[in-house]
Amino acid sequence: MAKAIPSRSENYSEWYNELIKRADLAENSAVRGCMVIKPYGFSIWEKMQRALDDMFKETGHTNAYFPLFIPKSYLSKEASHVEGFAKECAVVTHYRLKNAEDGSGVIVDPEAKLEEELIVRPTSETVIWSTYKNWIQSYRDLPLLINQWANVVRWEMRTRIFLRTAEFLWQEGHTAHATAEEAEAETRQMLDVYATFAEEWMGVPVVRGAKTPSERFAGAVDTLCIEAMMQDGKALQAGTSHFLGQNFAKAFDVQFLNKQNQLEHVWGTSWGVSTRLMGALIMAHSDDDGLVLPPKLAPIQVVIVPIYRTDEQLDSISAKVKPLVQELKKAGISVKFDDSDANKPGWKFAEYELRGVPVRLAMGARDLENGTVEIARRDLKTKETVPFEGLTERIKALLDDIQASIYNKAKAFREANTFKVDTFEQFQEQIEKGGFILAHWDGTAETEDAIKEATKATIRCIPFDQEPEDGVDVFSGKPSNGRVLFARAY
Ligand code: AMP
Repeated sequence: MAKAIPSRSENYSEWYNELIKRADLAENSAVRGCMVIKPYGFSIWEKMQRALDDMFKETGHTNAYFPLFIPKSYLSKEASHVEGFAKECAVVTHYRLKNAEDGSGVIVDPEAKLEEELIVRPTSETVIWSTYKNWIQSYRDLPLLINQWANVVRWEMRTRIFLRTAEFLWQEGHTAHATAEEAEAETRQMLDVYATFAEEWMGVPVVRGAKTPSERFAGAVDTLCIEAMMQDGKALQAGTSHFLGQNFAKAFDVQFLNKQNQLEHVWGTSWGVSTRLMGALIMAHSDDDGLVLPPKLAPIQVVIVPIYRTDEQLDSISAKVKPLVQELKKAGISVKFDDSDANKPGWKFAEYELRGVPVRLAMGARDLENGTVEIARRDLKTKETVPFEGLTERIKALLDDIQASIYNKAKAFREANTFKVDTFEQFQEQIEKGGFILAHWDGTAETEDAIKEATKATIRCIPFDQEPEDGVDVFSGKPSNGRVLFARAY
């Protein structure tokens, strides 16, 4: 058997990288900062996409597709937007290559220079709002509720597979509304969709809140986010939803005639989650033996491993197992019967553990005689021998139980690692140990920066569920009317 992956306590970051490789999820590519998502990893992403897409449709959105390239002049139209993204833009300047005259290979044809450079989209507000100008004339055209599934490019300097890559896959919702209230309600609704997805599908509890002005999306009036805790106590921003005010409507002159026949600028939102969610899923639940996947997102929910010596034994086990496989499939459970003889059962056990298959059944000759089967759950690593009769119902209940218990475990972990802190000494001490800190903040960017400088902790969000509470800022001693969430983050 291949060497085990490093343990989380030994080296969390190596554990993460090695696990992704060994569980066959993805690999770094030859292209700097870009990853190859392998079939097993992609099937998890597809499950995420499907669930999210259903939730977007359920809330009235439809999908469309906009160009990959954005003319530089579009990107420049909203001043703070271009300023925010300028440092990480990939720019297309030419449209042709040619053979070098000295035979040294292929070079960019200097004669094929584009009149206007194109930016590979880092996000699509500009190209979409330039289109919305043609689509929106009257209040009857609103609201416009559109989502796009796409890839984007942000030339990140420090990359980490899934969490922060130069090219990533995501969805971006872009909506247009007649009033500020409607757009604000949409911003909040989509944040709640993300939170529900994170908690009910991924089993990852999240804190919902608003970003501070300095952490806002470039071009937004307000940025809402969900923040999750990873097993090393660090935070991961898992999704964002932006209230854009009329910023993009003004930049692209998108106006509509309201019911009183007056021209007004449209109100906008945008919201996105990315393949970063894959990183969140891995980091939140997995252990030193491999992935732990919530059943709702596991490509294979149940694996059945036969234990046999002779072909006859395998035949009789197969005869018993095949109808069960059909029954499980009929119940909507994805199941794999691994009867390949290329590997021994012990190897298969370890392999499916590594890949995070939630439930494993093992059936040998003795089970066959007794009408039993061994059933093991990946999350708790417990196993028991149970009657073959009634297995489908038992498995359904078990999958539900695993889904809930993965979430409860992550939630208990977060609660045990969230601390209310009232002095800067305590703050500094606690942040070294990791976890979330709830502390008073005076609301200024200066204090936010100073704390970040001193501790590497950032304000993850101003949580929605905080009770107003008078206090003093941990750093500046100035008055504060509530606690905010600090953490070191990915
Ligand atoms: P933003 O447009 O910056 O609000 O980001 C939208 C979503 O994409 C957020 O959920 C981010 O967590 C995610 N995201 C931002 N940058 C990256 C990146 N370099 N790699 C992966 N995901 C990212």
